[in-house]
Amino acid sequence: MDVDRRALRQALTDVAPWLTATDVGPQAVDAGPCDDCGDAPRLLPTCGPASPGALCRDCARRIGDEGWCAGHEDEGRAARAWADDLPDDWADTVTLWWVATGELTLTADYLEVLRWPVGIQAALERQPGTG
Ligand SMILES: [Zn+2]
Ligand SMILES: [Zn+2]
Repeated sequence: MDVDRRALRQALTDVAPWLTATDVGPQAVDAGPCDDCGDAPRLLPTCGPASPGALCRDCARRIGDEGWCAGHEDEGRAARAWADDLPDDWADTVTLWWVATGELTLTADYLEVLRWPVGIQAALERQPGTG
């Protein structure tokens, strides 16, 4: 289904300003499930020769310093601390962000099972090109 992606991006960043981060969060990784658990969305990029890929919050916590090269352990800790501060519905918000960027397509099922804040609902109900 089509949504007004620009309106949705605006509504999302109004309620979840953390989405605007570019070195962590959904803008820092490719859309898709965590490279470790394959379940929750990707949230944090990792680095180094043994990089486990892009991880969800729980996997990043579990893997800890191992997910970052020796030169970037501080960045890794900062990224995990950032993730720790996110609200518990971060995963749904990240998924919807990728809908807003066009990386994922929204299904009607998904819309129905989730109850979004009013501003986001309004954006989801707008059709593209209606202003
Ligand atoms: Zn994971
Ligand atoms: Zn590194």
